Amino acid sequence: MKKLEGRAFLCLTLVAVFILGICFFVGRMFIKGSDWATFYGNQHIFKNGQLNVGSLVDRNGVYLLKNSDEGTKYSEDLELRVANCHITGDKRYNISTGANVAFRDKIIGYNFFTGTNSLYKRELKLTIDSELNRTAYRALGDREGFVGIYNWKTGEILTMVSTPTVDPMADVDISQVKEGTYVNKVLQGKLTPGSIFKLVTTEAALEKKKDINSWIFRCSGVYDIDGERVTCPKIHGTNDIYGALANSCNGAYAQLAIELGRDVLKEYVAKSGLTTSYNVDGIKTAEGYFDFDTNKVNLGWAGIGQYKDWINPLSMMVYIGAIAGEGEAAYPRILEDSPKNKISLINPDTARKLGDMMRNNVKSNYGDGNFPNLNLHAKSGTAETMKGNLPNGWFVGYTGDYAFVVCIEKSGFGAQVAGPVANRVLQQLVNGH
Ligand SMILES: [Zn+2]
Repeated sequence: MKKLEGRAFLCLTLVAVFILGICFFVGRMFIKGSDWATFYGNQHIFKNGQLNVGSLVDRNGVYLLKNSDEGTKYSEDLELRVANCHITGDKRYNISTGANVAFRDKIIGYNFFTGTNSLYKRELKLTIDSELNRTAYRALGDREGFVGIYNWKTGEILTMVSTPTVDPMADVDISQVKEGTYVNKVLQGKLTPGSIFKLVTTEAALEKKKDINSWIFRCSGVYDIDGERVTCPKIHGTNDIYGALANSCNGAYAQLAIELGRDVLKEYVAKSGLTTSYNVDGIKTAEGYFDFDTNKVNLGWAGIGQYKDWINPLSMMVYIGAIAGEGEAAYPRILEDSPKNKISLINPDTARKLGDMMRNNVKSNYGDGNFPNLNLHAKSGTAETMKGNLPNGWFVGYTGDYAFVVCIEKSGFGAQVAGPVANRVLQQLVNGH
């Protein structure tokens, strides 16, 4: 009898181990299945290391690429595929954030229950407007930079163009391409913000400086801090906070930054989302970095968006979206069927005031005539970079449901160089011409 009991026990143990093993395997498959199925060695969906199933279309159903046994086929329209290269990715998979790499499991239609033998049509739809990308690409011309636009109410990214770019179909010698060619700068870029960062310093001042509504700053073109100087490109005279932002007075913002102090600036930068990495349907964006020094001059320059400040363009676009959305913005996304989420970044009253100030910037400085029928809210930035290089010209803002970031690298004054690019693309989007 004892012997029988012993055998039954052994048998049950074996069954238990077997069931545990199955559970473990199914669990692993649930978590890792997409990686296994999309592994390069899977002959079913890869040929010679190239994906051979799935296609990609934009928000209007415009065909962007199709994977087949003959390789990846892109649009026949050369300009369209060059303009959308950072969205689709190139045929050699040099662009890590390109859809053919980043959304591999979705593009092949992987599903836990059906595997890669999906019964569904293997067509992935993006929120991108490929024709709007063409307009942005034309507006950038042969200059280096980027344009990003997203709907802050729905989270849909409509435009994301970086230059320099390449023909995704061409056989390119990587050693010959310009630096940054394979980088989607809106997602992966990190740049000195310059004066567009003054929005965050303004936000902090509106909430933490009690006398901000009666505060005035007299700009003489040079602001002296313990014998060191923060300079303005010209004398701005007497300004309240509206005037200081519209004129982008460096002296005024150095004074504000020093008065607010490092801890307050740190707190507001953290709150702004400018140091967070966003997860755009699985693509992680670069995160910004700020160093608020104990040295007063350095702290002053940091409050102006210079010194060691770095931001990622997408994070700035979302921050602008939160100003437009009275504190709240939709989380950015690029896949048409991905979930809609919201994030709260700014106090509603402060966001309304910032929006009002951005509108005032256009009315009193950049000129509504340069942005017809857009009711534009904006802030420019002219970010000093390496010695000897021209500054990076930024122009960020919103109109209606759309928040945007534009930057022309090594160019000049933001409102002059990046402003017209923003206008060109927004006219197409908002006014249809
Ligand atoms: Zn000034």
